[in-house]
Amino acid sequence: MTDHDVAIVGGGCVGLSVAKHLAERTDFDVAVIEKEHRLAEHQSGRNSGVLHPGFNYPPGSEKARFATEGTRRMKAYCDENGVPCEELGVVVVATDDREEARLDELAEQAEENGVEYELLDSRAELREREPHAEGQAALYAPEAASVDSQQYVYTLAREVQDAGVSLYLGHEVSRIYDRESGYRLATSNSVVDAEYLVNAAGLHADTLAHQVGVGEQYQVVPFRGEYYEVTPEKADLCQSMIYPTPDPELPFLGVHYTRRADGKVIVGPNAVLAFGREAYENTQFDLGDLRETLTYEGFWKLLASPTMVGVAWEELNKSYRKEKFVEASQRLVPEVREADLHQSYAGIRAQLVSEDGELVKDPLFIETDDAVHILNAVSPGLTSSLPFGDHIAERIAEKR
Ligand SMILES: Cc1cc2nc3c(=O)[nH]c(=O)nc-3n(C[C@H](O)[C@H](O)[C@H](O)COP(=O)(O)OP(=O)(O)OC[C@H]3O[C@@H](n4cnc5c(N)ncnc54)[C@H](O)[C@@H]3O)c2cc1C
Repeated sequence: MTDHDVAIVGGGCVGLSVAKHLAERTDFDVAVIEKEHRLAEHQSGRNSGVLHPGFNYPPGSEKARFATEGTRRMKAYCDENGVPCEELGVVVVATDDREEARLDELAEQAEENGVEYELLDSRAELREREPHAEGQAALYAPEAASVDSQQYVYTLAREVQDAGVSLYLGHEVSRIYDRESGYRLATSNSVVDAEYLVNAAGLHADTLAHQVGVGEQYQVVPFRGEYYEVTPEKADLCQSMIYPTPDPELPFLGVHYTRRADGKVIVGPNAVLAFGREAYENTQFDLGDLRETLTYEGFWKLLASPTMVGVAWEELNKSYRKEKFVEASQRLVPEVREADLHQSYAGIRAQLVSEDGELVKDPLFIETDDAVHILNAVSPGLTSSLPFGDHIAERIAEKR
């Protein structure tokens, strides 16, 4: 049995950022407990890798603050530590008048959040930046960047280990026992005792929180996002990043083009219900996870709206019929052809849904006297990971 002051469950970018900032702020004995033998196996290593500078989030919100600060801090961090990060900028494209009006709202938000932007008022101006993109107008945000998220996670891990944090890989926490003072964690390899618990288990954070009676009004509903890669010969169809105008109600929807830090261009993701929290292929399923989703009242309430049913059907089509995915991709870049895209990786979002059927869109963490449960490290969770982890570490340091 091992004893630590703080046990962090989950070695994704959030858990590791909490560890980094605890090591900087305190002299606590900290452990990170990660179930996989390799890092970045889930959300932190299976994403678009985009640093979102914060034009897309309501001024004054935590999401806006974490994203703007996160983008700046992460660029500096990558620069200092040799993590590939390219400041390519993004164009957010409007294809009709309604979307163009929404661009003005985004510009106002950018202004208030202190994010650089430029409105491109015509197709010609858009084409100067992205010669193959189609749209009547666009918002250009030069601070958006593309980062190698896997290398970022490994760099954080090396840094925290150098700072004295214990990193247990291949230790799956199966049960958390709330004791009079602190917690006992039963893992697949050992038993770990800790005075303070940080639950940063991503797709499984709700399951662990429920074991100690926290966050029972929420459940993670896993949504798979699939990517295609543009063949290298056609990679110049996208110079930087090309995004559709986001729908504020469904912020995680919208296939986009991202030129990654390694020069590859990826298109995606769609967002389809995953038949398991780690079902990365559309042929995979996990009966237990599926049962949990299908017996969750919040899931059915979410699906009750006609908009959601329509969206679910469209997204499902994009998953099982390549031509539908290609059609969605052509909305932004009409020249792209089915033969130009080949299937790449997938990621699964830990989308928190409340029991009354609401998609939780803001970061959510629940604190008790001796624990913090990070239930919704929602996108842009990668971008936000440094200030978010710092914030959590600050609160723990204040309490103890
Ligand atoms: C498809 C997709 C695209 C995205 N694109 C972007 C983007 O472009 N920009 C951006 O800023 N954000 C993006 N995000 C969001 C971002 O990836 C996440 O917000 C972020 O990675 C969350 O990090 P995490 O550490 O909370 O979760 P994770 O990376 O999932 O880490 C949780 C860790 O906990 C471990 N774990 C789980 N259960 C246990 C257990 N019982 N015992 C021990 N360990 C356990 C897991 O193995 C995992 O390593 C995207 C997400 C997805 C899915």
